[in-house]
Amino acid sequence: MGPLPPAQPPVSRLAPYPLAALALRMFRELELRDAVFDLPARKFVLGDDGHDTSVRVHDRVAATPFGPAAGPHTQLAQNIVLSWLAGGRIIELKTVQVQDRLSIPRPCIDMQTVGYNVEWSQELTLEESLEEYVKAAMLIRMLEASGRLALAPGFGRTVFDMSVGYDLAGIRSARVQAFIRGMMDAAPTVERLRRELPAELGPLRDLDFETRLSGSLTLSTFHGCPPGEIEGIVAFLMQELGLRCVVKLNPTLLGGEELRSLLHDALGWRDLRVPDSAFAADTTWEQAVGFLDRLDTLARSLGLGGVGAKFSNTLVVENHRHVFSGNEKVMYLSGPPLHVLAMHLVRRLRRTFGDRFPISFSAGITRANFPDAVALGLAPVTACTDLLQPGGYARPSGWFAELRRRMDAVGARSVPAFIERAYGDEGRRGGGGAGGPATLRNTELYVERLASDVRYSSVGHRKPPRKIGRTLQLFDCLTCDKCIPVCPNDANFTFAMASTPEVPLSQERQIGNFADFCNDCGNCDTFCPEDGGPYLLKPRFFVSRERWLQDAPRDAILVESDAITGRFSGREVRVAAADAEPSGDPLADLLRRLREAVLAPTEINYVSQSLSRR
Ligand code: SF4
Ligand code: SF4
Repeated sequence: MGPLPPAQPPVSRLAPYPLAALALRMFRELELRDAVFDLPARKFVLGDDGHDTSVRVHDRVAATPFGPAAGPHTQLAQNIVLSWLAGGRIIELKTVQVQDRLSIPRPCIDMQTVGYNVEWSQELTLEESLEEYVKAAMLIRMLEASGRLALAPGFGRTVFDMSVGYDLAGIRSARVQAFIRGMMDAAPTVERLRRELPAELGPLRDLDFETRLSGSLTLSTFHGCPPGEIEGIVAFLMQELGLRCVVKLNPTLLGGEELRSLLHDALGWRDLRVPDSAFAADTTWEQAVGFLDRLDTLARSLGLGGVGAKFSNTLVVENHRHVFSGNEKVMYLSGPPLHVLAMHLVRRLRRTFGDRFPISFSAGITRANFPDAVALGLAPVTACTDLLQPGGYARPSGWFAELRRRMDAVGARSVPAFIERAYGDEGRRGGGGAGGPATLRNTELYVERLASDVRYSSVGHRKPPRKIGRTLQLFDCLTCDKCIPVCPNDANFTFAMASTPEVPLSQERQIGNFADFCNDCGNCDTFCPEDGGPYLLKPRFFVSRERWLQDAPRDAILVESDAITGRFSGREVRVAAADAEPSGDPLADLLRRLREAVLAPTEINYVSQSLSRR
């Protein structure tokens, strides 16, 4: 087959996968491939006796401070499970809001250099989101209880943290309230889903699944949300629902002068322009200090322990690139430059309040700086941008290896001991002139060092991924498999397909796209060495006729129990499962071969799992 015609307008929408099918695939894949949802077991982070990485968050203990940030990795149940297998124990669920039928521009993620997005809140409805989060918690519990993982004692302790937006009216609405209450008491959802679990799972169906899925929440507000509104929302959540809250704050809190001086002069990111309007509309430092102080007092009076601050939300910058639609005048920056800005905010808050406020952190976390974030006593330390790089969920195993190495280097076996010793004598003396608790001393030292760290500057930063100058075709490619783990939804997969005279192939394995999990975010295109985008040019599989029809006129393949139907450039060809012989029609032969290949008993993918168990 030659290259397909140019991509038609994308219309993809995520579709959740049934719990029973997820559970069966998970255990089958573990058994046969030593992997779960395409993540090899050697990349699981399961803890060890020598390093206690547990931290306190609110009134709970989590086995690690790491977690996925509310973002593309925490929408669908299988991805939340993946983040847990990668060591995530404080899982910030994707932000939900009352407007849950938004139309999001595509592509929406640009990881070519630093990290930009025009993403939005959860793409599922509020009701679907609740169900996905409950499914994820049940799958994690089943994995834990199965005895199939060599989990260190206590390493299963996990906190699910809700994220809601964006204004008080929406948060007070009946549907958002039902979502929050459904997370606080998930018993009805758990019992309904329990009934879907198949007999093959044996006693795992009868587990004591957690029903209070979450008692905490990180508030996400619009860029430009008035400070009074932020305060009103958090007060409402604490007073009316008894939730323990963290307020996510914007990097614009630094003020125009300091932010631009850091971004442009110190780091050299002169092409990044932050519109003046962002500073005019956003909360100022003085306003944030005021509401944090008042909300903390309120939280303590309610017996909720206090509020936390999160640094940081993304930074709004002008859209100066050509990845997102020209209609998008601004985009949201993450990654290395944001790390420096957010760390300056951590220092500023601690200089103002000492260690009064717990700080949740998310900004440019990588293997190199994850141990430093832990050494600063930040928790959770959440990530998104690095998980979108090649390797995806396999990357945190490297972060934990680095944390263990740094802990060993200073003889620390726990996070508090590591905080105390992480920076050696310099830290103990109080770098930067600061005395007091180790978290504050470490903050001073670390932020001071950042200024000269080339990793965060425009000079030291990586170049866009290399392309080889060839356009992808339906079959055969470099078969580098990069497109599989970079997908935050695990939509891409590989399958074996032998070459035959009617469908000659040069590669043993081919790439497919499970369209129910693909939202056209564009990330696999960024890292694919060939042009065109695997999500657009590789076979796109549906297992629901309704969704396949809705996807028209895009090229797509529908696999059903009795047939396979392809739509290519508007032409539809159906091949019944019973038609085993070559027909002479190249498209029909191709579809027949595809069906055999994807559904082969040796293959593990979402298409074959769907047909064996709906
Ligand atoms: S397959 Fe590609 S475009 Fe689709 S969700 Fe995954 S990374 Fe994004
Ligand atoms: S589609 Fe691209 S990224 Fe995926 S295996 Fe082929 S060459 Fe690699």
